[in-house]
Amino acid sequence: MPACRQLLLFQPRTETPGAHWHVCAALIALLLTGCVPERPLNIVLIVTDDQGWADLGSYGARDLDTPNLDRLAAEGIRFTNYYASNAACSPSRAALLTGMYPMRVGLPGVLMPQSNAGLNPAERTLAEMLRDLGYRTAAIGKWHLGHHPEHLPVNHGFESYFGIPYSNDMTPDSTKNPNPYARNHPPLPLVENDRTIEVEPDQRLLTRRYTERATTFIETHRDEPFFLYMAHTFPHMPLFVSDDFAGQSRRGLYGDVIMEIDASTGTIMDALERHNLTHHTLIIFTSDNGPWLVKAPFAGSAGPFREGKGTTFEGGHRVPLILRWPARIPAGQVSDAMVLAMDLMPTIAALTEAPPGPYPFDGKDLMPTIDGGPTPHEAFFYYRGRALEAVRSGPWKLHVPHLFRSIHGATLVTPTHPGTYRQDSTDLALYDLAADPGETRNLAGDHPDVVDHLLTLMETARQDLGDSRTGVQGSNIRASARVTH
Ligand code: MG
Repeated sequence: MPACRQLLLFQPRTETPGAHWHVCAALIALLLTGCVPERPLNIVLIVTDDQGWADLGSYGARDLDTPNLDRLAAEGIRFTNYYASNAACSPSRAALLTGMYPMRVGLPGVLMPQSNAGLNPAERTLAEMLRDLGYRTAAIGKWHLGHHPEHLPVNHGFESYFGIPYSNDMTPDSTKNPNPYARNHPPLPLVENDRTIEVEPDQRLLTRRYTERATTFIETHRDEPFFLYMAHTFPHMPLFVSDDFAGQSRRGLYGDVIMEIDASTGTIMDALERHNLTHHTLIIFTSDNGPWLVKAPFAGSAGPFREGKGTTFEGGHRVPLILRWPARIPAGQVSDAMVLAMDLMPTIAALTEAPPGPYPFDGKDLMPTIDGGPTPHEAFFYYRGRALEAVRSGPWKLHVPHLFRSIHGATLVTPTHPGTYRQDSTDLALYDLAADPGETRNLAGDHPDVVDHLLTLMETARQDLGDSRTGVQGSNIRASARVTH
């Protein structure tokens, strides 16, 4: 009996309770066409904050216990050359949820509690795209694309929101953030939809509360297509963990926090299984950027890669990506193709046959790559803020001269000191990432033709997206939204 997936995917949402509506749609389809619609694809996107490339067992961690996330990887595909689009929170999430470079959508830097900016409502988010296809949508956890009511998830396609709208160290509480400037922050809000329901919530309970909300959402909408965006507050510093996990890991508080996130993922996987949704649900697991190394021992590991969060070296951008979808993706795959966070939304757009949005994606549909094809990208461009600092094409990565914050020679965090990186700089530097993933051997002098090619690619990006390092204004960039109050 043939399947008619589109019949369900293109139904606009109605006020009819979902279970009844889908049963009705299936029966009508059967009567009219003689075929049975497939169940629509559910999407669960789990994002952690500042978790490093090597902070999962499946990515080589030896002292972290992540059995659920390792099972997720074993049952799907994991990528070893996946790039967060930026090495900091707000721009990384802007790209993840729009499929475009952060510079394109006007959010190249981290938003602070004093900021009046947010993601422009003219941009189409992943949630808006799926909502318009009839999906139920929820955002749980950290947002960081604008904390004013106008910019919160409920005004970007999510039906509901529960979480801390920016980083958990953006608080005047000196025990959570010893930076002197933090004394000017307002108390940390916990937001439900567009209303602050608590200030300075007990952060030990956040992961548990997020998880409870996630499972309730799945149970409530188990008979409808849904998109759950689960954006953990942790392991961003300061770290907190519930009593059930305190002292349980082999890696101190950081390991405890990772263990609770892993257990949360297991709880979500169990909820899907309990409602017979595993087969038709695409779970995506990733991190927004690399580890905040100056916070060691409360930071993760970038494994073989150089530096971490806040830099355009591989440790800042290269993070885990796991996809599990038993109905479509064979289990047990590992791909070394270069793929980007910006690819997730175009991939889901293709899978759900969503109509085009107002602007073309920078990302690409990953399904051909998942099926064994090559990377869909000629190049990836590494921005720090508005500065274009590096490009990767094939195995080659070129840095143009820039300053950076280095963990080598840094002063690490203490209870009264936030930690200070050592300022360093790089010359023009060419690395072969296949042979030298740690970016240690500058081959620029040996391969002038490769350098010239990569510089040409960078110039194209510079004209398109802009570059504060050279003072070029991009010709295809748009502004963020701003509130006037
Ligand atoms: Mg982050």
